[in-house]
Amino acid sequence: MYKNYQDYTIATLGSHSALQILKGAKDEGFKTLLITTNERADFYNRFSFIDTVTSVVSFKELPKIKDKKTIIIPHGSFVAYLGMEGNKNMTVPYFGSKKVLDYEADRKLQYDWLEKSKLTLPKQYELNDKNIRFPVIVKSHGAAGGRGYFLAMNKRELIKKLSTFKYAQYVIQQYIIGVPLYIHYFYSLLTKQVEIMSIDRRYETNVDGIGRIPQSQQKDLSLETSYVVVGNSPFVLRESLLPEALNMGERVVESSKKVVGGKGLYGPFCLETIITPDQKICVIEISCRIVAGTNLFINGSPYSWLTYNEPMSTGRRIAREIKNAIITGVLEENVD
Ligand code: AMP
Ligand code: AMP
Repeated sequence: MYKNYQDYTIATLGSHSALQILKGAKDEGFKTLLITTNERADFYNRFSFIDTVTSVVSFKELPKIKDKKTIIIPHGSFVAYLGMEGNKNMTVPYFGSKKVLDYEADRKLQYDWLEKSKLTLPKQYELNDKNIRFPVIVKSHGAAGGRGYFLAMNKRELIKKLSTFKYAQYVIQQYIIGVPLYIHYFYSLLTKQVEIMSIDRRYETNVDGIGRIPQSQQKDLSLETSYVVVGNSPFVLRESLLPEALNMGERVVESSKKVVGGKGLYGPFCLETIITPDQKICVIEISCRIVAGTNLFINGSPYSWLTYNEPMSTGRRIAREIKNAIITGVLEENVD
C-alpha cells in the first residue's frame, strides 16, 4: 500500500470542468495531467496548476494511459467523447462508479432507481397511455445539454412531433412548471456522509428568453421552446428546504447500494430538480459525476464554506477524498 500522495497524478480530459478539477488537485498537492486535442493545448498551457498538457489527435487516446499512479476524474465530456465502453474499459484508477453509467444513460433504469429512492418524480408515459396529462416534455436518452427535447401541449402535437423526431430512444415526461435547480452533492465512502457542495440554476435557450416577450406578442410568433444550456448562475435555496434537499441525496445514495450494487453511487453527483409552488422538490434527472454548474464555485460556495471554512470546490473535494484514501491506504476501495 503506497501512501505518498504527492507521487500520484490526477488526470482528466480538456473540457467541461477540467480547470476546476485540476486546480483542486494542485491545491491538494497532486501532480496534474490534462489530455486535450491539439487546438486546445495552448489555452490549457496558460494555467500554472496544470503540470503537463498532452495533446492528442482525438480524445480516444485517454484510455491508453497505463500508469497505476494516475487517477482519472471523469466529467460530462467522458461519455460524450469516449462512449460508455471507452469509460468502462479504462484500466487506470477511475474516480466514479462505472456500474452507475448504465443507469445514467438509460432513462427507464434511472427512473426506476429514483422511484426506489422515494423521490417526487414527474409522471412518465407511454405513447398509447389513455390518460396522459399535458403538457409533456419528450427527452432523448443520454446527456446532451438539453438538446433533442420538445414540448407538446396535446396528443395531436405529440404524435406529429414524434413522427419527425430523430432519436430512437426517448421518454415522455409530465412537464413540471416551477423553478429548475441543480443541487450538487458529494458522497464520501470514507466518511459515509453526503454533503451539499453547491447549487446552480441553468440558463437555457430559448426557454429562458421567451418570458421576455409579452404574451400578447408571443401569440403572433410561431415559437417552439428549446432547452439548450448556455451557462449557469449561482443559487441559494430557501433554508427550510435544505434538510429535505440533503435527505434526498442520502436516499439516492442508500438505494444505489441495492439497485446499482457494488460500491453504489459515490463521489460527486447532481439531482436536477424543479421546485413547484407547493414546495415539492421534483427530480427530473440525476447526473452521477461532476456537473458543469459546479464551475461557478471554484473558490467554494456558501454551503462548502459552512462545512470546510476554506475554499472547497467539487474538484478540490474529489482530490481531498483521493488524498485521504491514499494516506489511509485504501485507494483501491475508493476508485473503480
Ligand atoms: P463540452 O465539454 O462543452 O463539449 O460538453 C460536454 C458535455 O457536457 C455535453 O454533453 C454538454 O452538453 C454538457 N455540458 C457542457 N457544459 C454544460 C453546462 N454548463 N451545463 C450542463 N451541461 C453542460
Ligand atoms: P435535463 O437534461 O433532464 O436536465 O433537462 C434539461 C432541461 O429541460 C431542464 O433544465 C428543464 O428546463 C427542462 N426539463 C427537463 N425535464 C423537465 C420536466 N419534466 N418538466 C419541465 N422541464 C423539464
